[in-house]
Amino acid sequence: MSEHDHDGGHGHEHEDGHGHGIDDPDHVHNAPLTDVQLRVKALESLLTEKGLVDPAALDALVDTYETKVGPRNGALVVAKAWTDPVFKQRLLADATEALADLGMLGRQGEHMVVVENTESVHNVVVCTLCSCYPWPVLGLPPVWYKSAPYRSRVVIDPRGVLRDFALELPDDVELRVWDSTAELRYLVLPRQPAGTEGMTEEALAALVTRDAMIGTAIVRAPEAAEAAEAAEAAR
Ligand code: FE
Repeated sequence: MSEHDHDGGHGHEHEDGHGHGIDDPDHVHNAPLTDVQLRVKALESLLTEKGLVDPAALDALVDTYETKVGPRNGALVVAKAWTDPVFKQRLLADATEALADLGMLGRQGEHMVVVENTESVHNVVVCTLCSCYPWPVLGLPPVWYKSAPYRSRVVIDPRGVLRDFALELPDDVELRVWDSTAELRYLVLPRQPAGTEGMTEEALAALVTRDAMIGTAIVRAPEAAEAAEAAEAAR
């Protein structure tokens, strides 16, 4: 694991329920490695040194949870909300309960709030103080989510940050930034792309990306997504 993957160690700092007080001396950020983190690092270097694990394989494993297995849960929730208006209402009214029914609650996801993107409002999620993130629906947070520049800049200049993610929103779209805490984890319900109305829940879920559920991307219709990927590959 990289030095950024410290969540397993730091999550417990919140669990006494004190939340995010910026002047709270117990809220440790950029702190020395915890005992567990040190053990993980020691173990990883030992295994690597002995040739028992390949650091690249470890990275691939982390990537799987970060980008594939994890966000798949969230994508299914989004697709269900798009195709089932009753579920969507429940999800927006009480996400914790709606997600619990799907078995998607647990560590780092005990209290969930889902915020809906509309034609006039775009939501973005951050944890300004560390890296609180809804694990049960999104898996592990990406490295950039935990980075100091994202955490500080998204509050001051959300439009600029979204531009860095190649997301340009019309000026009349209101940007709302949600600060996650130990008590509350947010999930963005992206807008369903035009032209996908007839698609199955399964096919829709495949379109929903992790970043779209954090708010640093939007969901694109299949042709648009392919075009964007091709443009990215050509760069
Ligand atoms: Fe946090």
